[in-house]
Amino acid sequence: MNTEECYMCERVATSKEHVPPLCLFPEIKDTKGINFRKNLITVPSCDIHNSKKSDDDEFLMLSLSGLIKNNPIGNFHQLTKSNRSLKRKSKDFLEKQILRNHILKKVKTTDGKFQMVSIGNPNTERLLKCLEHIAYGVYYQEFKERFEGEIRMVLEFIEYHDDNMQTMKKFLKKRFAGEKELNKEIKGGNLLVFYYHFLEPDNFGLIGMRIVFYGTAEVYFSFKGNNAKEPFDLTLKLMESGIKTTMNIDGEEFVFNK
Ligand SMILES: [Zn+2]
Repeated sequence: MNTEECYMCERVATSKEHVPPLCLFPEIKDTKGINFRKNLITVPSCDIHNSKKSDDDEFLMLSLSGLIKNNPIGNFHQLTKSNRSLKRKSKDFLEKQILRNHILKKVKTTDGKFQMVSIGNPNTERLLKCLEHIAYGVYYQEFKERFEGEIRMVLEFIEYHDDNMQTMKKFLKKRFAGEKELNKEIKGGNLLVFYYHFLEPDNFGLIGMRIVFYGTAEVYFSFKGNNAKEPFDLTLKLMESGIKTTMNIDGEEFVFNK
């Protein structure tokens, strides 16, 4: 009898959940035989936390594969599977669910060509919910236990209106870039689609993780376990209280509440 617990709660697991969702990985029928669906991560899941029961997976695929900075696999996935999926939706699905207030704009790509892109406000709340599931799943995979505590996220590919969030993005990018050289433990069976790496816990027991989708779409996570010491993040507390706070990495200064 299977008495494994779910990766997100105490219920008994009844199935396996792909982390990240299977639909992010191109299908062989689209890739002329290249297999991007090998060595995928699965975690035990209860009925409630199996996202197959919602359309969140599809939402996530459409949100991530449409990003202009993506590598060719992400762009290709958008042209094949994501487009097929969009065609099955109502006309206003993109507008209502994925990218609000969106407009089509002609932009120049890095190779000098022009491309029509959709620009608008991403459905961040839903995106965060999907990414939180992935964070729980990857944590389970890494530590072989369920994470209990608080998860925070910063999405590198979103332009935040808040100056502090914009600075935080740059700060985290630099922080993880430095760490990458020390610790080359990048994990994921199909790096062009998805990979992740963890940082060593800091003095307060806070664990950092970076996930990269399609080579460019980065998300930074922090895991504050229930047994992490207080203050959870002193710098963050100062920042949130509006006090001018400077953080320094390798001589580069990041100033919050300028
Ligand atoms: Zn569950």
